[in-house]
Amino acid sequence: MTANDAAAGAILRIDLDAIIDNYRLIQRRAAPAEVAAVVKADAYGLGAARVAAALRDVGCRRFFVAHLVEAARLREAIGDGIEIGVLNGLQPGAEAACAELGAVPVLNALDQIDRWAALARTSGTRLPCMIQFDTGMSRLGLSPDEVRALIDQPERLDELDIRLAMSHLACADEPERASNEDQARAFDAFCARFPGIPRSLDNSGGALLPRAHHYDVVRAGIAIYGGAPQTGPNPMRAVVTLDARVIQLRTVEPGTAVGYGLTHRFDRPARLATLSVGYADGWPRSLGNRGAAYVGGHRAPIVGRISMDSLTIDVSDVPENLLFPGSLVELLGPHQSIDDVARDAGTISYEILTQLGHRYARSYLPSLSLHQQKAAQP
Ligand SMILES: *Cc1c(COP(=O)(O)O)cnc(C)c1O
Repeated sequence: MTANDAAAGAILRIDLDAIIDNYRLIQRRAAPAEVAAVVKADAYGLGAARVAAALRDVGCRRFFVAHLVEAARLREAIGDGIEIGVLNGLQPGAEAACAELGAVPVLNALDQIDRWAALARTSGTRLPCMIQFDTGMSRLGLSPDEVRALIDQPERLDELDIRLAMSHLACADEPERASNEDQARAFDAFCARFPGIPRSLDNSGGALLPRAHHYDVVRAGIAIYGGAPQTGPNPMRAVVTLDARVIQLRTVEPGTAVGYGLTHRFDRPARLATLSVGYADGWPRSLGNRGAAYVGGHRAPIVGRISMDSLTIDVSDVPENLLFPGSLVELLGPHQSIDDVARDAGTISYEILTQLGHRYARSYLPSLSLHQQKAAQP
C-alpha cells in the first residue's frame, strides 16, 4: 500500500484485464460485427485515457465520446489513426475544431450535415462523419421528415465520407420489449435508402439481444465496465472494487440515534463504524438507511443519512477483530456489485460509475498496459 493509499478515504481499483475480457465477450456475442468502445464521461468515470489505451492495445480501432472536448483529450491519450466519434453531434461554431482534431461527428440533424458539408467544400476535402437516424427514441438523430428531405436531395451528402449510419435503442436492456424490433425495422428501412454505408444500431444491451445479426458495428459501454447490460443474470466480469476507510468506531446505548436528522434510532446496544466516504464522493445520498457495506464478507447495514464526507454502518454483527481505525471495508467488490448498489439507491449502474469520486486513491490492474509490458521486456 502506498502512502497515497494510506491517506485516502477509500481505494478504487480498476481492473483493465476485466475490461479487456468484457470487450472480448461482446466481440464474441456480436461477431462478425466490429465492437467500438464508448468512453464518454471519462469512460463512465473509470479514466478514458487508461481504458482506451488498454482497448487500443487489444485491437479496438473505434471509440465514441459524447462531447468534442472529450475527443480532444482522448486524441492526446491514444494518438492519431484511431477513429473517435462524437455522439452529441456538431455544434454551430465547432466545425473547424472538429476537423482539426480529426474527430468524426455524428450528424444528428440536417443543419449539422449542411455545416459539415460547407466546411468540406471550402477546405476541398471529403470530411468523415456518421449519420444518426431517430428510429423512435426521440432523443438525437434525423427525424423521418429530415430523412425524406435528404432522400430528395442526396447531393447534400456529396462532400461527405459517411463512415456509419446509426441509431440507438431505447429499451435494449429489456429484451422482451417489442420496441427493439420496431426500431430495428425502422433502421433497416432508413438504411435501405442509403445503401453501402456500414450500419450500427446496438449498444451493450443490443449486442445481447437474440437477433440474427448485430449490423456492422456495435457501440459497447456499460458491458465493458462490468455493468449488467440487460435485466437478468449479468455475464460481464466486475471491473471495479471500492474499499472505504474506517475513521472511527463507537458503541452506542439503546435509544441513541445516528446522523443528520437522527433518522435511525437503536433499540439495542450497537457498534458503529464511520467510513470516510460520503455523497461528495458519489456515494448516493439515497442510500441513507438503505444498502450496506461488507466486512470480511459480513453485511453491515448503512444507518442514518449519508453525510458529505462520511457514512455510518452498523457493525454489531461483525467479529470485532476485523475492525480498527484505518481498516478497510468493502463498498464494491465480491459481495456487492455496482448493480446491487444501484438497485438499493434506486438508480442504474451507469450513474454509480459516473459519479465515483475524485478523492479516492485510484489504481489500475495490471499497473502496466500490454504495450508498456512489451516495451519493458529485455
Ligand atoms: C452511451 C451510448 C452507447 C453505449 O451504451 P451502453 O448501454 O453503455 O452500452 C451507445 N450508443 C450511444 C448513442 C450512446 O449514447
